[in-house]
Amino acid sequence: MSTAHTTGPAGTHHVLMLGAGYAGMAAATQLAARTRKADVRVTLVNAHERFTERLRLHLTATGQRVAELDIPTLLADTGAHFVRGWVTAVDAQARTVRIDDSRVLRYDTLVYGLGSVTDTAVVPGVEEHAYTLDGPSDATTLADRLARLGGGTVVVVGGGLTGVESAAEIAERHPELDVVLVGRQDPGARMTARARSHLRAALTRLGVQVISGTAVTKVLPDGVELAGARTIAADVVLWTAGTRVSPLAAAAGLTVDERGRVVTDATLRSVSHPDVYAIGDAAAIRQGYGVLHGTCQSGMPTGVPGPTSRPGRGVGRRLVRGHRHRHLPGRRAARHARRPGRDQRWSGPGVQRCGPRGRHHLPRHRRRWPRHRHPQRGQPRQAPSGRRRHHPPSPDGLSR
Ligand SMILES: Cc1cc2nc3c(=O)[nH]c(=O)nc-3n(C[C@H](O)[C@H](O)[C@H](O)COP(=O)(O)OP(=O)(O)OC[C@H]3O[C@@H](n4cnc5c(N)ncnc54)[C@H](O)[C@@H]3O)c2cc1C
Repeated sequence: MSTAHTTGPAGTHHVLMLGAGYAGMAAATQLAARTRKADVRVTLVNAHERFTERLRLHLTATGQRVAELDIPTLLADTGAHFVRGWVTAVDAQARTVRIDDSRVLRYDTLVYGLGSVTDTAVVPGVEEHAYTLDGPSDATTLADRLARLGGGTVVVVGGGLTGVESAAEIAERHPELDVVLVGRQDPGARMTARARSHLRAALTRLGVQVISGTAVTKVLPDGVELAGARTIAADVVLWTAGTRVSPLAAAAGLTVDERGRVVTDATLRSVSHPDVYAIGDAAAIRQGYGVLHGTCQSGMPTGVPGPTSRPGRGVGRRLVRGHRHRHLPGRRAARHARRPGRDQRWSGPGVQRCGPRGRHHLPRHRRRWPRHRHPQRGQPRQAPSGRRRHHPPSPDGLSR
């Protein structure tokens, strides 16, 4: 039988943070810095020691090397502690978290940031036949397959920005492959008309065939079936349409929305359990206009108390009370995450910050920041090594 234990001296307030994604890392480093002089211990639990840069997985999937970031190293000197393990249960009554079914950690305040993964259950055949981009090993498996193809068709399902980015990157890196992007809506449907037409033009230039307004009803071993029984033959199917969250929050009795995300108020606090906060993709954060969309760009600032935060009594207060979540544009969020002396390691060179997502769909050489606006001044992003094409100016002016 396992015994519940807290680490640190008696009387210490223990903040347990689950999930070291963009939101969890930002929250852990910020909270550890804010509570450095207080009797508070911050522990971050994650399945792996390696930080998964989801924003860069489509680069890995096309055989490009990205930095390997080690979470314990990123946390060094921040004051936050790291526990590697798979969270298997949360007991919100006993205020404990079970890890790997054998260890039990107690908490006083829980920060739930277990993120999301691709939903492979929506359509038959996805689980068996489609590739996904949920982690470095998925991305590497896809990269190996693409590299071995030498020709053929890749169908990318999902007209959201992950699908657009992936289709563009595959077309750019593998000109020998035919890339088809299939989605219910036009690529980047949530974007402005100008941005959408820019996406369309970029995809056309890259030779990506776009099929929108149609649903994929089944993934087959050698293609996809569309509504209306039409099929598209494919050597590879990449599924990017939709995400799901861990069932742990719902199982713990926290109030969750229809997708299983922890329902929070604007201070990120669970509406049902006041000692639980939720951040990032795992949270359904109510805003005036509705629920915050799950992206790094909106999720990372949830872990970064903004300028409206005021120090106060108690850990929860230091984390988010007094902070009403405001949607910070990516670069502002990155600046918050980069306060000198706080979390430089976490936000140091190599970490992909969430930028305006619109530019990530583009091939790398089109995404460079203007030198004077680059988040790490003096270190402009690397020039591309791949095939060059002529590109007219982009409408956002950032990717020149
Ligand atoms: C290819 C791709 C490109 C993207 N590009 C962009 C972009 O350009 N801009 C943008 O804003 N968003 C982008 N997104 C979305 C963005 O990556 C997510 O919104 C963001 O990662 C969410 O951050 P998070 O911290 O909430 O969760 P995650 O990054 O998902 O992190 C959750 C962490 O929890 C860990 N975890 C989960 N379950 C358990 C468990 N039971 N036990 C222990 N650990 C666990 C996971 O291993 C992970 O480390 C992209 C996504 C993909 C897949």
